[in-house]
Amino acid sequence: MFVKIRIMKYFLFIVSFFAVMSYSSAQNNFSGHKLDPQKVWVFILAGQSNMSGRGKVEAQDTVSTPRVLSINKKGEIVAAREPLNFNEPKMQGLGCGLAFGKEMLNDIPDDVSILVLQTAVGGSSINQWITNSTHRGIPLFSNFKYNVEIGKQYGTIKAILWHQGESDANPEGIRQRQNDLSTLFKMFRSTVGNDSLPVLLGDLGSFSKTPALFSQINEQNRIYAASDRFTSVISTSDLHHRGDSLHFNSEGQREMGKRFAHEYIRKFGAKKPIVVLTFDDGSVTHYYNVAPLLKKYGFTATFFVCDYPRKPEVAASKNMTWNQIQALDKMGFEIGNHTGHHKGVGNLTKTELVNEIKYIEDKCKAYGISKPVSFAYPGNRSDSAARIVLKEMGYVFARVGGSRYFNPETDDRLLIPSYTMTDKLDEKSSRALQELRPGQILIFTIHEVPDPDHENYTTAPELLEKYLKLMSMNHDEVIAMKDLVKYCKN
Ligand SMILES: [Zn+2]
Repeated sequence: MFVKIRIMKYFLFIVSFFAVMSYSSAQNNFSGHKLDPQKVWVFILAGQSNMSGRGKVEAQDTVSTPRVLSINKKGEIVAAREPLNFNEPKMQGLGCGLAFGKEMLNDIPDDVSILVLQTAVGGSSINQWITNSTHRGIPLFSNFKYNVEIGKQYGTIKAILWHQGESDANPEGIRQRQNDLSTLFKMFRSTVGNDSLPVLLGDLGSFSKTPALFSQINEQNRIYAASDRFTSVISTSDLHHRGDSLHFNSEGQREMGKRFAHEYIRKFGAKKPIVVLTFDDGSVTHYYNVAPLLKKYGFTATFFVCDYPRKPEVAASKNMTWNQIQALDKMGFEIGNHTGHHKGVGNLTKTELVNEIKYIEDKCKAYGISKPVSFAYPGNRSDSAARIVLKEMGYVFARVGGSRYFNPETDDRLLIPSYTMTDKLDEKSSRALQELRPGQILIFTIHEVPDPDHENYTTAPELLEKYLKLMSMNHDEVIAMKDLVKYCKN
């Protein structure tokens, strides 16, 4: 009897499969617009419950956006809203799909949309996927194939996001893991017709009731990924469960979506040369000369501010006021911390350093600016004690000098090297910009624009504009320091 029901379910599935296929061939549009398959990037979610989604769906997860799409039960294109999984009506929950799609929008061309297709089914083992078992009424691999057809109909399949392994966290599953992943990913790629199709894997949570077994699956996934250059793994060890020691909570799901997006862009995305512009010392020239130039070219930047210690009458004409700093923040620029009074970190006790950092944070708070996450060492001099303090105080990035590119794979995020752009160093910094290859990251440090009193530090507005023009012509990606997060693994 049980078998009969299964067969019936499968039969119905196949019938609806063909009904949907003939239906959707006639459609191929969304909200009256014809979709251009080149401009729809398709991502297929596969695996078990944590990919299917078991988080609590909150208001923000139901806010759709026109460029993140999914399908409904009939196979029609709809604006994506969580939950995306309709295979398990009784267990629907928040997954990472919508958060992934929304995060991708930050890094893809404006005319590209993301189509997220959900095929994960809770409790499925990898072997059930390989053998196309019917699990909870869904023939796992046939359903995957069906979604591949839909994906190809509307767009270009770019990657598979795979989160699975809880059901295989046993000695046999761990022993078979390498073979199983290799077999299944070959099946995925041959179904899609792309031998180099990226597959991104997510680590199992660190909150299991059998943590040793989960961590062995994670280890096996990473060993496999090291042997298959079209895969990559995202970490989830800092994410939390919803109270059952098994499923990621809502926050964890959204963060996982973001991490999949960052990892896809970092490893497989269309790469551009990346430039980070940073302006130091809170000079009033940043407000009057720099901000309008950046706006003209549509670039963002980081302003490392401090109340630069000068005689009051000089400070009044040279330092930005906090109202001006607030205006830069409102224009969308990042406000970074350069210590309250431009104090070399090596000359301060821990308490003094904390107070200097906190001075800027308090000012920011008073002016409605979010707490800085980026820091620039005054005089570009760092030390290990300061880095510990910065880490403790929640800083993600800190900049020094050094005249070389930043490599997120090997460089410490609290020791980000930069080139100084000044009139005098023009030749050296021009070369650094011209030699910058796609995917490489160049950070510029700039002081006053201009500074008539210091010929070694001045950057003429015309010189800055020459660089901005070049970046614009090269289609460089010009970002603020905090945006480096998407190029840094996890
Ligand atoms: Zn400085």
